[in-house]
Amino acid sequence: MKSFDKLFYDGKWQTTNSTEYSEVINSATEEPFAKVVKATHEDVDCAVASAKSAFTKWNERDPKERAEYIQKILTGIEERRTEIEETIIQELGVSRQFVSKGQVDLSINEIKATLEEFEDFSFEEELDNATIIKEGFGVVACVTPWNFPLNQIQRKITPALLAGNTVVVNPASNTPLTAILYAEIIEAAGLPKGVFNLITGSGSDTGDYLTKHPDVSVVSFTGSTSVGKGLYENAATTVKKIVLELGGKSPMIYLKGGDLQMAVEAAASTVLDNQGQTCSALSRLLVPKDDLEETKHIIKKYYQDIVIGDPTQKETRVGPMVSKDQMERVLNYIQKGTEEGAQVLVGGHRLPDKGYFVEPTVFVNVDNQMTIAQEEIFGPVLVVITYDSVEEAIQIANDTIYGLSGAVVGPQEEAIAVAKKIRTGNVTVNGGDRSAKAPFGGYKQSGIGRENGLFGLEDYLEVKAIFK
Ligand code: NAP
Ligand code: MG
Repeated sequence: MKSFDKLFYDGKWQTTNSTEYSEVINSATEEPFAKVVKATHEDVDCAVASAKSAFTKWNERDPKERAEYIQKILTGIEERRTEIEETIIQELGVSRQFVSKGQVDLSINEIKATLEEFEDFSFEEELDNATIIKEGFGVVACVTPWNFPLNQIQRKITPALLAGNTVVVNPASNTPLTAILYAEIIEAAGLPKGVFNLITGSGSDTGDYLTKHPDVSVVSFTGSTSVGKGLYENAATTVKKIVLELGGKSPMIYLKGGDLQMAVEAAASTVLDNQGQTCSALSRLLVPKDDLEETKHIIKKYYQDIVIGDPTQKETRVGPMVSKDQMERVLNYIQKGTEEGAQVLVGGHRLPDKGYFVEPTVFVNVDNQMTIAQEEIFGPVLVVITYDSVEEAIQIANDTIYGLSGAVVGPQEEAIAVAKKIRTGNVTVNGGDRSAKAPFGGYKQSGIGRENGLFGLEDYLEVKAIFK
């Protein structure tokens, strides 16, 4: 078994006194294949101190030079993309079909888009007799989930570093290997020591200690709403700035006169790709009552051809869940759905073979008050809810604690009008492409702040007014 026993801070890979490790599991085979050291609190102190001492110089650098370093990191990602893809397949269980476009290209495009926007960004402007200056906060603690092991880190460190901050990253325990590879790429890009630091270790210990650290100025977290709430509370102690990208329960609304097949396939894709472990997944499909039969027919036909199994095989669409815990969580929700009176249209079981596989599952006869319509399942589960009027569809769509994403398929003008009434940070109309420069983030309990492009950058900038 491969062993990773070093942490990256102060510009190099450092040894630790820790003797504790966490195992990385291949969830298609249930075999552990690597172990990664868990940082001690002293290690966290060292990483934060290193980021703190690097801050002033990095913050005062010409922003163009900071952009050149990000460009070097981007080149490194492009050069080592095959290795990154293989690592993500192995530690996340995502299918080869999805990893390239859905994970690595996503990061490359988002970094490119941010760099492009950054070219014309001004850190200083005049307002009456004031000079308004924008600059970094200091040390940013980044705590990231496992579902997009490269992109969740990139979305934080690209804007944080461009803005002039230094960072300490604590990646998810399920997927630390992509983060380690990323750190190697950053090391090769030759960033000044202390600007980027990586410490592995569990969130409840390492991440908790890091995000409470008095020398951390910003906590940037992506993960579950429950952990996010705890971090928000902790941040109050030293009035840290907080950026939260949390869960979702996003609706796809099909309107009469639109392309029903497109609506079904677009929603289904978001719960099939990445095994539905995507925060913006369109996991609630809303259709007019009298289109239900046609909807069921389309779903059955579409799901017939979905290949589930070994994620390394190119015909596989759906791989295993990231972990045993995640599989059990999804299976519990499926059971709860049945108990509460929803009806399984397709799927509903664990695969009998080895590996943490859950069949792609679709529920009908779902009421929006049911647990499977209210709580984020984070798995290959779609629920179909019917409505009588467009007003009711909007009301159902918004009847959730979340507000991350959404979609509407229907006659274009009407669909845009409905999109405006959905209380979420993103809405896709008739399958519109998403620009990597546009903001991503949630209303309500889906988060605070936005990622991507200049919107993402702003979250990592302090603002000062100098009156002359
Ligand atoms: P999670 O349990 O909240 O974990 C996310 C990260 O937080 C992991 O690195 C975890 O470490 C760490 N963590 C756990 N407890 C912590 C604590 N007390 N203090 C500091 N850090 C702590 O979520 P998950 O199960 O990994 O990811 C699934 C959830 O993330 C879903 O709800 C999903 O919607 C959400 N998500 C949201 C977005 C978005 O952009 N809005 C994107 C992706 C995922 P360990 O790995 O060591 O437990
Ligand atoms: Mg795994």
